[in-house]
Amino acid sequence: MTDFTTETRVETAAPEAMHSFLCERLAVHGRLVRRPDGTSQLDFDVGSALLRNEAGALRVELASRGEVDLFYLRVMLADHIIEQAGEELRFTWSGLGSETAAPPNFRLMTVREVTPLAPHMRRLTLVGKALGWFDSDDLHVRLLIPPRDVEPEWPRLAETGRVIWPQGAAKPAIRKYTIRRIDVAAGEVDIDFVVHADDAGPGSDFATAARRGDILGMTGPGGGGFRPAGWNLLAGDETALPAIARILESLPADARGLAFVEVQDENEELPIRTPAGMEVRWLHRGKAAPGTTDLLLDAVRGVDWPDKDRYAWVGCEFQAFKQIRSYLRKDRGLGRDEHLAVAYWRRGENEDSFSVTKHRH
Ligand SMILES: Cc1cc2nc3c(=O)[nH]c(=O)nc-3n(C[C@H](O)[C@H](O)[C@H](O)COP(=O)(O)OP(=O)(O)OC[C@H]3O[C@@H](n4cnc5c(N)ncnc54)[C@H](O)[C@@H]3O)c2cc1C
Repeated sequence: MTDFTTETRVETAAPEAMHSFLCERLAVHGRLVRRPDGTSQLDFDVGSALLRNEAGALRVELASRGEVDLFYLRVMLADHIIEQAGEELRFTWSGLGSETAAPPNFRLMTVREVTPLAPHMRRLTLVGKALGWFDSDDLHVRLLIPPRDVEPEWPRLAETGRVIWPQGAAKPAIRKYTIRRIDVAAGEVDIDFVVHADDAGPGSDFATAARRGDILGMTGPGGGGFRPAGWNLLAGDETALPAIARILESLPADARGLAFVEVQDENEELPIRTPAGMEVRWLHRGKAAPGTTDLLLDAVRGVDWPDKDRYAWVGCEFQAFKQIRSYLRKDRGLGRDEHLAVAYWRRGENEDSFSVTKHRH
């Protein structure tokens, strides 16, 4: 079903050149069919695009199953059109006339409740409208954390379909967090924040100071879900504890495996509902600083692995992530479809300088 459609007419002296450029660039993301009538059809996971040359213009028609998929498709086309023709090019999609609209995967959220869970973990219950889109297998969101003492600006949609991100003093900081719990009917999500006060950043600071009524932005979700195998290994530090807890709670009752969670000490351990066949082992780093131990690596190395029907999921500090991922691939020979390892943070670098998206598989 393709209920959501939009189209644009991009004025260009050479529609054929833009048409060929788009086909070449976009074919790597989907399936391309060039038709005898001169049109091209591109099919992607998020929808389809039809390209048609006209006198002095290229017509682009998009169709998708949902509003957010259509938004992703439009951004993809707009990015490539502008890459080919330059930033000055102006074009408008049907149904998208003003620059005040928010991207459809953006929500303004308000803090409803602050719950200290452990000395270094605070839960913020956030409320927002129409959260159904966020109730998916995708585990994480990007939180847009307002600057202190400055009225924040939020992302808007340009006429071209691209997102205009705020700049300067009003720009929110963007940090990735896990949706620990979502209740669409109540319009609520829980996010569990690690509070790392000695080396704070906007995410940790926001959670520390949060009061009922504070606002922040949320976009997403992303990152994919967890596909359980017969035997499962989960490993992470406290930043991945919300994801590990959510995964454990979602596993089938007959799931088997192990979960290792590194925290400072027993005061940081949290109750998790776990299938009987999944054992949770807490690893205490004691006085050592977060992100400086080999506890997770050693624990993963000590595992007695089955030869097949196995899956490993890892989320932790960058150095541990690198070593564990290398161990899983090289020493254990896990295939691409048998593991997902993600660096959740990097010691001594904030999220702006450390692009974690480059450090996953
Ligand atoms: C997919 C994904 C999901 C995530 N989910 C969660 C989640 O649910 N809860 C959560 O708390 N975190 C989560 N994280 C990790 C979180 O995004 C990072 O810890 C992030 O750096 C926190 O932002 P900040 O503004 O507090 O610190 P930044 O401004 O990014 O960093 C400032 C300083 O703090 C250090 N630092 C960052 N995190 C820590 C830490 N945990 N302990 C000690 N020092 C630190 C940095 O090295 C830097 O020196 C997730 C990360 C990813 C990639």
